[in-house]
Amino acid sequence: MTQKSIEGYGYCALCGSNDVNTASPLLTAAGFDGNGNYCLCRCLQCGVVQTYPKPSTDLLAQAYNSDYYGSSDSKFNRLPELWSRFIGRRRARWLLRQHGGPDKPLRILDIGCGRGVLLNAFAAAGHTIMGTEREGSPFSGLPHILCCDLADLEAQTGSFDIIVLWHVLEHLNNPKETLAKARDLLDNSGSLFISVPNFGSNQSRLFNNHWFHLDLPRHLFHFEYTSLELLLRTVNMKITRQNTCVFDQNTYGFIQSILNYLPGIKNNHLYSLLKKDMNVTSLFLSVAYLPILFPLMILAVTEHYISGLFRQGACLTIQVTINNHD
Ligand SMILES: [Zn+2]
Repeated sequence: MTQKSIEGYGYCALCGSNDVNTASPLLTAAGFDGNGNYCLCRCLQCGVVQTYPKPSTDLLAQAYNSDYYGSSDSKFNRLPELWSRFIGRRRARWLLRQHGGPDKPLRILDIGCGRGVLLNAFAAAGHTIMGTEREGSPFSGLPHILCCDLADLEAQTGSFDIIVLWHVLEHLNNPKETLAKARDLLDNSGSLFISVPNFGSNQSRLFNNHWFHLDLPRHLFHFEYTSLELLLRTVNMKITRQNTCVFDQNTYGFIQSILNYLPGIKNNHLYSLLKKDMNVTSLFLSVAYLPILFPLMILAVTEHYISGLFRQGACLTIQVTINNHD
């Protein structure tokens, strides 16, 4: 696809405006696996950045294949999987503290919960959990995970103390509808936690179309604080806290984005390697990365802390409550 073939104005899937200038994309980039060519364009009405052209149902089905999800037991090979579970437990504790350090069991809903790493960490801390996933996801049948539409949870209206959308909103066809349903499911004094790649971050600007967290074509929307705040206002919710320091995602995003510049190596090759069952070839390739990984890690951690100080980190996490006063 060339820029010319989508010349003209597109439709904004968030605010319904026809004011998306697809003839002047902010950037063009290949898909996550190096295939395809996509444009990122900003809606001149609501400011949200979107992926064009919208991927077809068939393309999305390929993008959300078993490689993407992993199995119910694991997504990565042994070491990164252990790291991912460690991070899940830390994240659950952090989210509970942000909510106010609960002294009683809470009801927690994780929308787009994947294989349930975060949910299991909440359950281990004594809380009541429920997760949702796309219909047809490989996690149907796992305890506490429903593959259903949020509308099917109507009976649970107002019953959740915490709802989590962790790197999910940017994948959805209609984020506004999901946020409105999440608001209905949330208790009046509950917390909704949202984390998304921060399109307004230093990494996004620095790495442009090589940025790991673009994840095209799965990411249909690319949020910044301002577009997210505006969107939440339309569903009568408000941001009470923001943070751009998501250590694991920020540092890995930095490292993989730099690796994406290396000639002769497939886009996101290291990430694919971390997800494969380890064999002699993948072990050899992983070891070959080590000499470059150490200096990159030092740079990545430095960037994480400096950008985080100025709220310019690669992932934006917000705590949101129902706006009971306006
Ligand atoms: Zn718009």
